[in-house]
Amino acid sequence: MSDPEHLLDLLSDISAGTSDSDAAGEGLQQIVDEACALLRTADAGVWLADSADQTLRLTATHVSPTRLPERYSHGQGPVGMIAARRHPLVFPDNDPLLSDDPLARRGFCSCVGTPLVWCGELLGVLVATREAPQCSFSASDVQTIDLLGRLGVAMIVSDRLSGKARQLSHSLQAEQERLRHVQVAIREMQEQPDVEANLREVVEALGVLGWQRVVLALFSQEGLIEQLVTAGISPEAEQQYRANVVPPEVWAQYLAGRLEQYLLSGVYYVPHGDASARAWNPDDLVFAPLHLGQTQVTGVIRLDQPVDGLRPESEALRPLDILARQTAYVVENARLLESASKSAEALADQVEELSMIHRADRELGAHLNVDRVMRLTMDWAVRRTGADVGLLMLMTDDERGLVPSVTMGLLDRSLFPYNEQNPLPMDQGIMGRVARTGQTQLVLDALSDQDSVPFVPDARSYLSVPLSMRGEVLGVVTLAATRVQAFDAQHVSFLERLSRRAAVALDNARLYRQTEQMADDMAVLYAASRTITSTLERDEILQRIAQAMTVALECSSAIIFGYRTEPKGFQVLTVYRLGTAQDSYEVLPSVKEFVPLAAYGAFQTAVEHQHPMVLRAADPAVPERDRATLQEAHIHAAVLVPLIAQGELIGLAAVIEGRRDRVFTSSEAFKVETLASQASVALRQSQLYSEVKELEKLKTEMIRMASHDLRNPLNNIMGYLDLLSASLDQSGMTPEQEQYLGHLQRSAQLMRTLLEDLLTLERVESERKTEWQPFDLGGLVVETVEAQRSSANLKRHTLSLGRPQGAALVYGSETQLRQAIANLVSNAIKYTPDEGRIEVQLMSEGGRLRFSVSDTGYGIAPERQGRIFERFYRAREPGTEQIGGTGLGLSLVKTVVERHGGEVWFESEPGKGSTFGFWVPAAERG
Ligand code: ADP
Repeated sequence: MSDPEHLLDLLSDISAGTSDSDAAGEGLQQIVDEACALLRTADAGVWLADSADQTLRLTATHVSPTRLPERYSHGQGPVGMIAARRHPLVFPDNDPLLSDDPLARRGFCSCVGTPLVWCGELLGVLVATREAPQCSFSASDVQTIDLLGRLGVAMIVSDRLSGKARQLSHSLQAEQERLRHVQVAIREMQEQPDVEANLREVVEALGVLGWQRVVLALFSQEGLIEQLVTAGISPEAEQQYRANVVPPEVWAQYLAGRLEQYLLSGVYYVPHGDASARAWNPDDLVFAPLHLGQTQVTGVIRLDQPVDGLRPESEALRPLDILARQTAYVVENARLLESASKSAEALADQVEELSMIHRADRELGAHLNVDRVMRLTMDWAVRRTGADVGLLMLMTDDERGLVPSVTMGLLDRSLFPYNEQNPLPMDQGIMGRVARTGQTQLVLDALSDQDSVPFVPDARSYLSVPLSMRGEVLGVVTLAATRVQAFDAQHVSFLERLSRRAAVALDNARLYRQTEQMADDMAVLYAASRTITSTLERDEILQRIAQAMTVALECSSAIIFGYRTEPKGFQVLTVYRLGTAQDSYEVLPSVKEFVPLAAYGAFQTAVEHQHPMVLRAADPAVPERDRATLQEAHIHAAVLVPLIAQGELIGLAAVIEGRRDRVFTSSEAFKVETLASQASVALRQSQLYSEVKELEKLKTEMIRMASHDLRNPLNNIMGYLDLLSASLDQSGMTPEQEQYLGHLQRSAQLMRTLLEDLLTLERVESERKTEWQPFDLGGLVVETVEAQRSSANLKRHTLSLGRPQGAALVYGSETQLRQAIANLVSNAIKYTPDEGRIEVQLMSEGGRLRFSVSDTGYGIAPERQGRIFERFYRAREPGTEQIGGTGLGLSLVKTVVERHGGEVWFESEPGKGSTFGFWVPAAERG
């Protein structure tokens, strides 16, 4: 029953079953079963060839494995012979079935078999056996077993192939699994911004991929290990890897490019010892450097101890290659990102700083209030630098030391006693150093700096910057922090920049304050000088100045002394005590009390140095005896200023504080000095005033004497001189006698003119305006000119007169103006050589009357013109030496004209002539 269709069905059945892993065994079983059925044999079996020992082993039987012989060698018995000849055989038809054959011995007398061959390879032998000798195998039986044999071949081959396919799919799956790990790792790396976490991911992924030890190292720019991430490594081993991830000699070869033959799947695999052995050698090396393209190596991944104990296949290394590349990307990106974010941070930082500085510029520029300026500065400085404590100290006006202005944070109580009166001395602490040197001080660790700030408990870092302007330190900004190295170069530069601005603002505010102070001082001084000019009452003035000193310095009292030389000492002129100063206990002298110079050392010093002295009872720098004097008088502090007028000591001013301890600053001393100079002026003025009054009295007396006592005897002298000349004339005189007499007469005449001029001047100055009245100046001019015509004629001068039509009314003294006009006309005649030309002119212009006399005389040299109206001044030009005069005429003209509300003027050119004139207001016609 060798039905081909049945066989085909069988084939497709068997092929369908081969997808299963056990299909080969079952298929061969089916074949032997089918062989028995189709060939009607007692049994059938398949012996598979074992290439290793050239035997054939029974694999499938129809009845039971024990019925058929288990093993045949090649060429032995029917199975061995079929295997050897490699084509179907029938026993005993083709060959005898030997009686000692195991088949014969098991009761089989015939058999048919076929080799199972695939592509020249013997896979096995299929044999079917019968027990009955008469039943031989036909040719179709041979064909059938041949077909079944082929079927068996197909089965074995397909089984073998599917086994391979399974194996293949297994390794494919493993590869996929690996790739999945790699993918997961890569994805997580891409999503995870944290480099450290990424590196850990890579290391773990490599661990999962079959490596017990994974080391990933990142290098710094200098090539040192910067970061190490490991998996499956003990801390001790990690230390070893930290020294070198890859043995240095291998690494050096890699760097030199001499390791390329070990490159496998992009990874360096350097086996140790027998390269063909499969087992992992502990000295084998697997590593992948991290770098992108030609860039510098940024790290390395090393794998050690594979989980399976076998050396890695090329595929197993591929994930390492991929991960190494990815890691290099991640590291590179992270570094780029870090530097980008660093520069972004720096930029943001700079922007913040700039905007702060900009605000500082705006706000500081807008405020003239020192406190606000300082508070803003401190606030910005602390906020920007993250300091724990901020302290801004300002320099006192007299630069003695620093006074706390603004504080922020926790400061020690020891700072509080420092104030304007008692500033922090400049030789103390870091601030003192900054104030002295004008240089920034940065202390990174206070423990190593002995000269640090005493006011900040537990501070470890300090930054102190001067507030300076035009080389002058105005203050010091100090920041402190409890941590070490809290401030860096950036903080220094920021604080310096901020301080420069604050210093400008502070300077502006200070200038403004000084201007205000100056305005106040000026007001005080102005008031003081007004009091001086408003009255000549010395005591009144001194009292007001003492008061002004007390108020200006806000102290309790002031004394002004006058200086006396015989005996040497000071007399109290004024004592002023502030009415509201009830809590002052100073002992003050009384007015007129005399203080001998020798009594007080400080007075002596002030007199000797002629300079203000600032005294303070509590100041050890003040001489002991002066302090004792102050203490005895219950005076806390005082300023002594000598009063000096025209280099001469005339007194002393003392400004006193008897209520509390205080320090008078140099600017306060200066204020007292200024007021004291006013006091000097007052004293000097009142002294001069009394002297002038005295002189005035003397002058009046003299003039009175001249008018009354000198005029009469002079008239007598002149009368007798005339008589003498008349009598001598008759008896005849020698020429000498005549000359002497002439001298006598001229001198007497001059004396008379002098007396008359003096009397006129005196009269003009003492004449009261009540006697004034309006009169015609034109008539007066004509009258006066005509009276002088004879003198003009004597010198053969041409004398002309021009005057306005009608009356030229003026309100005033006719006598005085006559005298003035006569003086001007007579001067023109006097100071013009013979045959000159003299023009007198009166004009009315606007509301004025203008009078002038022009001559063609000697003129006056420019250098002498300035003094021409002074009393007794005579300009002695060449040619005028013989001309007599008193020098009083022009001064009288000036006095008269000015008393009439007019003005005198003149023009003159030496050798050409002069024009003298004046104008007076015209009187209204009424
Ligand atoms: P004196 O008594 O000397 O004339 P005056 O006061 O009248 O005194 O004049 C002062 C001086 O001014 C004169 O000494 C003279 O030098 C000068 N002076 C006055 N008038 C004239 C003038 N018309 N021409 C030149 N010099 C004059």
